Amino acid sequence: MAKRTVKDLDVAGKRVIVRCDFNVPRKDGKITNDNRIIQALPTIKYLIENKAKIILMSHLGKVKTEEDKAKNDLRCVAERLSELVDTKVSFVPVTRGAELEDAVAALQDGEIVVMQNTRYEKGESKNDPELSAYWASLGDLFVEDAFGSVHRAHASTAGIPSILPNALGFLVEKEVKMLGAAVDTPQRPFIAIIGGAKVSDKIAVVDNLLKKADKVLIGGGMAYTFLKAKGYPIGKSLVEEDKVELAKEYLAKAGDKLVLPVDNVCADAFAEDANTKVVDSESIPADMMGLDIGPKSVELYRDALQGAKTVVWNGPMGVFEMKPFAQGTLAVCTAISELPDATTVIGGGDSAAAAIQLGFAEKFSHISTGGGASLEYMEGKELPGIAVISDK
Ligand code: ADP
Ligand code: MG
Repeated sequence: MAKRTVKDLDVAGKRVIVRCDFNVPRKDGKITNDNRIIQALPTIKYLIENKAKIILMSHLGKVKTEEDKAKNDLRCVAERLSELVDTKVSFVPVTRGAELEDAVAALQDGEIVVMQNTRYEKGESKNDPELSAYWASLGDLFVEDAFGSVHRAHASTAGIPSILPNALGFLVEKEVKMLGAAVDTPQRPFIAIIGGAKVSDKIAVVDNLLKKADKVLIGGGMAYTFLKAKGYPIGKSLVEEDKVELAKEYLAKAGDKLVLPVDNVCADAFAEDANTKVVDSESIPADMMGLDIGPKSVELYRDALQGAKTVVWNGPMGVFEMKPFAQGTLAVCTAISELPDATTVIGGGDSAAAAIQLGFAEKFSHISTGGGASLEYMEGKELPGIAVISDK
């Protein structure tokens, strides 16, 4: 059943707590990429227009020590946000107490209070009931819009909405709609492409997508554990010895649904200026490592994608951060983006970064904003921050 969205709530004059994902990258205290703030604007602007009293909460970075607090002060986010909206934005540098309560009480319709980093509270990541109840007491309604955090059952993502009437914000609604359309109700043929560094990170994704997709194409560092499982020599390529048996099982049960690279760009060192050579997957030299899929694999994957109606891509095909090993990822990106009428979805932090870095930001139906959350969605796991939201 569909979840309630912010449009299903009567927000006028109400105190609405919105959990955003304002976990922005920073350097020397300055925001280097404000995409996450931009992504939160549709819900925030809707609440401004509909005259809610808006309380924004988010975590920022990791807070373990007192020094971490100063490093991860959310004030920079409130300052940036105030440049993007046409209303009063007040920042409260604490996470509880009179200063916070007074700022909330002073809110006029359509105004915003940004509370300090939720992780200033130890109880946040423990989903502490006392903390959840306290934060919930500040609002009348709760809106879940932090897609990057919905896979965590924390006080601000799962605790508050277990107490207050709630709904999804527009960002989470869009994520659930697009990931759901791809993974749960795909138009066929449905092709999944899975790469990245490690089998252990992705085995649950491979497992779930083998059940749902018509083909699963493998690339990246994890391919070599599978090639080793086939009995091929893999030289100095990345391998997880303790996953070779598991890879064998998957190869046996998946048959030709699981497709491995047939050739590789190998290098004599993990370096941009290494000596490289393209070799077939059966014959990787002992002193070299595979750092990208090769041109024959690109052709194979391009062919497999023809006619696809749904494509889910998670994990780069090679070490795309280094130019000599970015070709496979670039070619797969291109092939996906040229499919005439497919729903194309990218999940995973590095794959999203690769697609954006390679200039494909506009070419996909959806690039997920939540690395860990989209991964867990693709694993078929329940996301606690979404599960807690009421159905329509
Ligand atoms: P995502 O964040 O999209 O889920 P991962 O974090 O699993 O992706 O993997 C991304 C990383 O995998 C990249 O930093 C990339 O350099 C690395 N990688 C890809 N192919 C290889 C390879 N053949 N050997 C070593 N590392 C690789
Ligand atoms: Mg990653």
